[in-house]
Amino acid sequence: MKLRYFPFTIVLKDTFTISHSSRSTTPAMMVEIEHDGLTGYGEASLPPYLKENQQSVTEFFKKVDLSEFNDPLDLDIILDYINNLASGNEAAKAAIDLAVHDLAGKIKNLPLNQLLNFKKSSGIYTSFTIGISSKEKIKMKISVASSYKYLKIKLGSEVDKKNIEFINSLTDKPLFVDVNQGWSDKYSALEMINWLAEKNVVLVEQPLSKEMIKENGWLTERSPLPIIADEAIQTFDDIELVKDFYSGINIKLMKCGGVRQAKLMIEKAKRLNLKIMIGCMTETSCAVTAASHLASLADWIDLDGAELISNDPFSGMKIIEGMIQIPDSPGLGVTKIRKYQT
Ligand code: MG
Repeated sequence: MKLRYFPFTIVLKDTFTISHSSRSTTPAMMVEIEHDGLTGYGEASLPPYLKENQQSVTEFFKKVDLSEFNDPLDLDIILDYINNLASGNEAAKAAIDLAVHDLAGKIKNLPLNQLLNFKKSSGIYTSFTIGISSKEKIKMKISVASSYKYLKIKLGSEVDKKNIEFINSLTDKPLFVDVNQGWSDKYSALEMINWLAEKNVVLVEQPLSKEMIKENGWLTERSPLPIIADEAIQTFDDIELVKDFYSGINIKLMKCGGVRQAKLMIEKAKRLNLKIMIGCMTETSCAVTAASHLASLADWIDLDGAELISNDPFSGMKIIEGMIQIPDSPGLGVTKIRKYQT
């Protein structure tokens, strides 16, 4: 097996603003693993908060030597080897995990969900994300998202209530709210959540700083809405840290190291009665499609990452009438449709 990798800049259709930050591109590293005439595709998307970047991913990949591995179906052996090369580097590890799963599916002629014995369910809805924006832009985004059933609204600014009231005046769609750690005080957060519960909001993601673990627990106990950990949970081991303080967890391939780790996290979260959201970064269709194969195991899906970008090198999972359509072709089910260029 042979690893190749390509630095790539994901370009967003619009500047994306969340609590504390704003950006119009996301650095990434695209991966191709070749074996026996087949190519497995993978991706590391590297938004600023992950602490990985193209340089750290390159450094990690320099340590990888897949020439000794002759069978991509030895998934566990290969991924254990990758995992033991260095700690951290979860997005870099995810890129390889995706590419090896893609190869394994292609060899067995099975889509990823069948390779892993997941149910492939239809009729799963994803939310469409609207960043912190002006009223005109919110209005425009709501019309772009007209076919979606759920909207995910970024909060964490002084105009949170005004924006929610404005959105309620335009649509009666159920809302996911993501605060990205933007509220600083548990009392005002609870007051806000009580208010949101009357405004068609179904869940609240990461209201307080991930460091405020006990305060988050206090909030979860009193909140009428489920409180979902995102920034507070990255990997499998973090489940122990958050399990008593949140109602559920947002699992993302780039945070946890790929499909194998995500599956383990889902299994553990279910044993603990935690709710599960499958989310994504701004990613190409490569990683988003990989995540879509896990969708039947989750309570909520937030996989619109590839819809927000303008230079997607892949086609794969589609969103039709707000529902995800998982490809039936082998592996991830993605097709490279253009070069990795900005
Ligand atoms: Mg989030």
